[in-house]
Amino acid sequence: MDGLYEIQCLPRGWLGTEHLPEEPECSCGMGYVPVELHDRGCDRARAPFLDYDTLGLVDGAVKSLVCSRGSSLGDAGATLSCLASLIAEAQSRLPDAVAEARCHGYTWGEIASRLATTAGTARRRYGSYAHWRASLAGGAAWPSCGPNAW
Ligand SMILES: [Zn+2]
Repeated sequence: MDGLYEIQCLPRGWLGTEHLPEEPECSCGMGYVPVELHDRGCDRARAPFLDYDTLGLVDGAVKSLVCSRGSSLGDAGATLSCLASLIAEAQSRLPDAVAEARCHGYTWGEIASRLATTAGTARRRYGSYAHWRASLAGGAAWPSCGPNAW
């Protein structure tokens, strides 16, 4: 078997992914089955989870960044720093993504579900920023984005 099989055999929590749902939600209700078995148009981005798509994208992104930064693919140190760079970049996008979701009418509970956390934690972490950003928009972009949305 390949790397993902090994990852799934590790005790839950060893990879720091214990907060992710074991059975990802989808709109057709099939859960964690091959994509071919889902209904056509099934939304499988309702909750965060690890799969072969994620694995392939991250592997490709790390390799691309290692190369573009002038290192060699076999350099484990370059892999570490590039992986950390990608994680930091992705993390830095969460506040704006949450603010955008609020502007589009997502509740704190819905946002929390998509972040694999609680509504209270999501609101505590991103609420001030989302509110501040909405106040800047003044409702110009979307009617629900203004300060009255809170
Ligand atoms: Zn489905």
